[in-house]
Amino acid sequence: MSAEPRSNFLRTQIQADLEAARVDDLVTRFPPEPNGYLHIGHAKSITVNFGLAEQFGGQCHLRFDDTNPEKESQEFIDSIQEDVRWLGYQWAGEVRYASSYFEQLYQWALYLVGEGLAYVCDLSAEDAREYRGTLTEPGRDSPFRDRSVDENRDLLERMRRGEFADGVRVLRARIDMASSNMNLRDPILYRIRHATHHQTGSEWPIYPTYDFAHGQEDAIEGVTHSICTLEFEDHRPLYDWFIANLPVPHQPRQIEFARLNTSYTITSKRKLKLLVDEQVVAGWDDPRMPTIAGLRRRGYPAAAIRHFCEEVGTSRSDGIVDVAMLESAVRDHLNHHAPRAMCVMQPLRLTLTNLAEPLVLTVPNHPANSAFGSRELMMGNELFIDQADFREEANKQFKRLVLGKRVRLRGGLVIEGDSCEKDADGNVSRVLARCVTSVPGADPEDGVKPKGVIQWVSAEHGLPATIRRYDRLFAVPEPGREDDMLAALNPRSLELVAGAVVEPGLGEAEPEQVFQFEREGYFVADRYDHTSEAPVFNMAIGLRDTWSATNG
Ligand code: ATP
Ligand code: MG
Repeated sequence: MSAEPRSNFLRTQIQADLEAARVDDLVTRFPPEPNGYLHIGHAKSITVNFGLAEQFGGQCHLRFDDTNPEKESQEFIDSIQEDVRWLGYQWAGEVRYASSYFEQLYQWALYLVGEGLAYVCDLSAEDAREYRGTLTEPGRDSPFRDRSVDENRDLLERMRRGEFADGVRVLRARIDMASSNMNLRDPILYRIRHATHHQTGSEWPIYPTYDFAHGQEDAIEGVTHSICTLEFEDHRPLYDWFIANLPVPHQPRQIEFARLNTSYTITSKRKLKLLVDEQVVAGWDDPRMPTIAGLRRRGYPAAAIRHFCEEVGTSRSDGIVDVAMLESAVRDHLNHHAPRAMCVMQPLRLTLTNLAEPLVLTVPNHPANSAFGSRELMMGNELFIDQADFREEANKQFKRLVLGKRVRLRGGLVIEGDSCEKDADGNVSRVLARCVTSVPGADPEDGVKPKGVIQWVSAEHGLPATIRRYDRLFAVPEPGREDDMLAALNPRSLELVAGAVVEPGLGEAEPEQVFQFEREGYFVADRYDHTSEAPVFNMAIGLRDTWSATNG
């Protein structure tokens, strides 16, 4: 990871604001709505907001934007906090909730009413749409726009007391129905919703809109830079209007940047929820999900995700980042940080016919970093190798075990294939081979070197394990554009490998520990299901990018 963060327009802007003393200390916030799990796009927003606070010695708040009680839940509140911490960040102070400012927001609504800047409107949703105009035509004033301050105050207070049914009235700002910016055409500030809220219970029968809530929450908290994604650019004049027209304690400022989109990925919470609800995946944290919880369970390290978010940069132009960049950040990180181990996916019995005594081998845990230490592996007469690593006959391209040819067993001896046995169906059930060296790592004395190295596991000591091989969830680069997202699923996104055998030490793997299974890829001990009696490993990523080559 680069030591000095690269410059980008946000850093430049904040630097300038600090230097010109427009702000004393930087305060940012990450403001998720607790209506789903966080995904890779949110990871970008988290690294931007927390990263800026870190870089400039400021602070970053975690604030739940909980103004839509029907779609929100405690499960999401909990998962979001866990994900932010797992990514390596800690918010300043307590967790904050938009809902804890409901009373202040309501007082400010009354204030606007008093200033003649807000009114209660009784238009039906349909009529309101009609009055709103279009991008090319100005809107028309609501017939309720000129209600007196007293009448508006009375109606708003009755809305707050719960006297009216859902949807019959709204509170609107009185701005400009002819504005070329649709957001300024008397936007809605409050809706009536007799809903139970996860934080405030049934205290509130009215809920503020995002627009009326967000900037004021920033102002209450002393947020200096309210960083959001580009779809809010057109809302900025409204954000500024509230800040200018309300007696708020601070003057926050909104700055937008482009969302992070990665190929082969859905980053709409609504669509991710559909995948969960339709049981296409096993849950929000299914290792194929682009959620932070899913990536974590997949074995993607937090540091690799942070690194990726930094690498893709921060700009104001939308685009799609090749998901291979994320995968490669994960692969690079794990190459340096994951100890090596051996797993045989499809065991084939190998008998060493001339090994007099079992050998105790000392095998390094990392080929390039001695700090990883080494482990001892018992090599007896009976081993398992992978079915794919043996052929009775083969051409020179096949650098594994062939009858009459030599191969090296990883960390051990060189062997030569002699014969094989077959079952009733004609499948090879056992290979018999001879050791042609007696010292681990040595070359044969007759000078005939083996062409390749294969992994193995002791038949006596190896542990049966469940391996889940994962691949991309979608088979198309832009699943979000498909009319039927479900038709674009990759049918091979999960392959369960039953009957795999791993080396004995892997029973002691800690949940979430990642290994490179030699010649197979990176695998993580499942966070929930892995036990020493029944090891379960999830494939994080293969050793090479197999998609670019075939789908370039
Ligand atoms: P919705 O508002 O539709 O529920 P959302 O993805 O915007 O979905 P929020 O919980 O509002 O979800 O997002 C929290 C923060 O994360 C916001 O500031 C938002 O701008 C930011 N964010 C969301 N998606 C991305 C993305 N793909 N790239 C960068 N930032 C994102
Ligand atoms: Mg949002």
